[in-house]
Amino acid sequence: MRIDTLYVERAVEAYATTEAMRKKFDARQVELIDDYQELFSRQKTPYLKKRENRNIFLAARKGACVKEAPPAYGYQAAEKHFYYVHAFNCIYECEYCYLQGYFSSPDLVLFVNHDDIIAAMERTVADHANERIWFHAGEFSDSLALSHITGELPLYFDYFTRHSQAFLELRTKSINIGALRALTPLPNIVVSFSLSTHEQAMVFDRETPSIEQRLSAMRRLSELGYQLGVHCDPIIYDATFAEKFEMLCIAMRDLLTYKKLQYVSLGVVRFAKDVFREAKSNYPNSQIFARHFIQGEDQKMRYVRPLRMQLLEIARAILKKHGCPEEKIYFCME
Ligand code: SF4
Repeated sequence: MRIDTLYVERAVEAYATTEAMRKKFDARQVELIDDYQELFSRQKTPYLKKRENRNIFLAARKGACVKEAPPAYGYQAAEKHFYYVHAFNCIYECEYCYLQGYFSSPDLVLFVNHDDIIAAMERTVADHANERIWFHAGEFSDSLALSHITGELPLYFDYFTRHSQAFLELRTKSINIGALRALTPLPNIVVSFSLSTHEQAMVFDRETPSIEQRLSAMRRLSELGYQLGVHCDPIIYDATFAEKFEMLCIAMRDLLTYKKLQYVSLGVVRFAKDVFREAKSNYPNSQIFARHFIQGEDQKMRYVRPLRMQLLEIARAILKKHGCPEEKIYFCME
């Protein structure tokens, strides 16, 4: 990743993590600024400019640090789910990524005021004192890809050690597990990997580790004692989807065993309307758009419902055939 300018907000200049990151990022230049929002969203930068170079902002999250997740977002839908905002944008380039068109720039924003984020978690936990609640990382960025540089995971592990009624999910496609290896696994922290068929990942998940590499990282984490989850999301139509998905399910069974997985989510490809337009313009020949999408009541662009249900039921049946207990499977955002 070529970094043009590392912008550092004055408000976070004194943070120890800021100094550590300044040393680790090999930026062409470093500039002190007052507010990242004045530059990050000042003008539209084409999403695919991220292939050439990009800027990084080290900033303080000033808005809501913790937000309630949409319905059917996580496992155990009856429990409360929240996500926390620790970064914007991602080093990978998945063709279906909802971040294209979501922000006006592909530059990375890394929030360093984790003390404020954890304080917001603390308030959320206090508001739901007698409930089991979930926090998810990775809504606007991959949760592990830069963790060796950003260095925040020990703070979150410390918090979740002290709050066993709260659960943390770290969502990722990364095999950058060095930071996790240095920590002690906790029963209330789940590392969840997004997986798809080997063939689709090769085409659509640009710049990401292969499915084999992700499965190997999962196996290593499982050996270390980590709780694991899987998101088979997004499922994209392909005439041979069933047989290719079966290969993935067999690999999960043989390399990990379903006993080791806390849950497996299934979700069919979907886009917010703006993101759909942007993705089509960024990847005009992508097979993602080979099938027709329609706009739903929630304004999201999806396949027609019978096709979505067919894909989800096929996937569920194959998972069950290879030993995944039905209660571990859930449909995401349906
Ligand atoms: S890993 Fe997730 S956040 Fe990153 S580009 Fe892919 S879909 Fe987007």
